Amino acid sequence: MLKVILLILAILLVYWLFWGQRKKNAADGSADKKSAPANPEKMVICAHCQLHVPESECVIAEGRHYCSDEHARLGQS
Ligand SMILES: [Zn+2]
Repeated sequence: MLKVILLILAILLVYWLFWGQRKKNAADGSADKKSAPANPEKMVICAHCQLHVPESECVIAEGRHYCSDEHARLGQS
């Protein structure tokens, strides 16, 4: 009898974790959708290697965007 109770508790625990996880994922998904427009990071393309980098992290040289100082040097040469 104890085994049956433990089995039922285990099943309930699995269901509880499963639904809890689903709700958490749904909440995270909606949070992502809300935060995405609130923090619009403009992406620019490195003129040397075509890598997409956030504008705040890119290097600008002679009006072109680069992903790093090294590529800015290579792009100008
Ligand atoms: Zn680059």
